[in-house]
Amino acid sequence: MTWDFDLLVIGSGPAGEKGAAQAAYFGKKVALVERESTLGGACVHTGTIPSKTLREAALYVTGFQRGHLYGMTLEIDRTTRLRQITGRLHAVIHQQEEDVRSNLDRHGVTLVQGEATFAGPNQIVVRRDGVESARLSASVILIATGSSPHRPAGVPFSDPDVEDSSSILDLDRIPDALAVVGGGVIGCEYACLFAALGTRITLIEEKPRLIGALDPDMSAALRLALESGGHQVLVGDAVRHIERIPQGTLRIELKSGRVLEVDKILYSAGRAGNTGGPAEDRGGGEPSGTGSRPAGGQAGRATIRQGVDPRGDPGHLGRR
Ligand SMILES: Cc1cc2nc3c(=O)[nH]c(=O)nc-3n(C[C@H](O)[C@H](O)[C@H](O)COP(=O)(O)OP(=O)(O)OC[C@H]3O[C@@H](n4cnc5c(N)ncnc54)[C@H](O)[C@@H]3O)c2cc1C
Repeated sequence: MTWDFDLLVIGSGPAGEKGAAQAAYFGKKVALVERESTLGGACVHTGTIPSKTLREAALYVTGFQRGHLYGMTLEIDRTTRLRQITGRLHAVIHQQEEDVRSNLDRHGVTLVQGEATFAGPNQIVVRRDGVESARLSASVILIATGSSPHRPAGVPFSDPDVEDSSSILDLDRIPDALAVVGGGVIGCEYACLFAALGTRITLIEEKPRLIGALDPDMSAALRLALESGGHQVLVGDAVRHIERIPQGTLRIELKSGRVLEVDKILYSAGRAGNTGGPAEDRGGGEPSGTGSRPAGGQAGRATIRQGVDPRGDPGHLGRR
C-alpha cells in the first residue's frame, strides 16, 4: 500500500509541531493540517503565551503600585481593553507563530490549512469553509488536536459577562469585581492577575484547597496571599446555579446556599479535548466526559494511529 505521507499530523500546537518536526528530522515525509489560519494552537493564541504576557504586565503594574515607596505612582485606566494592557502581545504572538512556521518549513513539513476529519483509518479529508479541499493518506496519523475550555451545560456562556479562559482575553475593560469559578492552575493564575490589576476577586473551588496538585503548604500560601490582599477564597463549595437578574448583576447560588452578586464571571472548570471532529471513533480508546482520549491504553499522550510516541522514537514510523 502506498500513502501520500509517512505521517499526517492534525493540529499545530506544541504537540503537533514537535511531532511533525521530529519525524521529518528522521527523514519521514510529513504533512501537518491546521484548521485555524494561524499556527501555534492554544499555547500561542489563548493559553500559555497570552496569559504569561498578561502576567508580565500585571507584575510590572504591581511593581509600580509599590512605587509610592519611591515617590512614583501608576493609575490604570479601568476602561482599557485587556489586550491593550498586553501591548506587546501581538508582537509576541507574531514572533512565536513565525518560530513555529520556520521550524516546520526548515524540516520540510507540508502545511495544509483546513479542518481534518477521518475518511478511513489511514485517510483524512480536509475542509475549508465546509468545502472539501484535500484528501490525504498516511501510514501513521498523529491526532494532536489539543483542548478548549470546558463549558458545562447549564452555565450561561451566552451572557456577555460570563467568560471562559479564552474569551477573558478580549475583555473591553478591567472588571471591578470578578468571580472565578475553579481554583485550578488557570483559575488561580487569572485570579492573581486580575487581583494585581486591582479587581476584587471571589475564587470558588469545589475541592478543599486550591490547585490540588500542589503541595498543601503552597496551596495554603496561595490562599493566604489572596486573602491578605482583601480577596475572598471559598473552598469546598461549588456553583449550583447562575442567573442574570433582569437589568442587573449576575447572581451565583452556591451549593452551600451562599449567594453572590457579581458583574463578571470567569468560569474555569478545566479543559475539554478537541476530539469531537477528527478523533471521532478513530483515535483508539473511549473519550472521557471531557473528551480526553487515551492513546494505546495510556492517558495523557497525544493520540496516534498505529502507535508511535512523538516524544519517543520516530523511527517506529512506517514499521507497522
Ligand atoms: C490560560 C492557559 C495558560 C497556560 N499556561 C501554561 C504554562 O504556563 N505552561 C505550560 O506548559 N502550559 C500552559 N498551558 C497549557 C498549554 O497551552 C497546552 O498544554 C498546550 O497548548 C497543548 O498543546 P497541544 O499541541 O496539545 O494542543 P493546542 O495547543 O490546543 O493545539 C491544538 C491545535 O489543533 C488544531 N485543531 C483542532 N482540531 C483540528 C482539526 N479537526 N483539524 C485541524 N486542526 C485542528 C487547533 O486549531 C490547534 O491549533 C496553558 C493553557 C491555558 C489555557
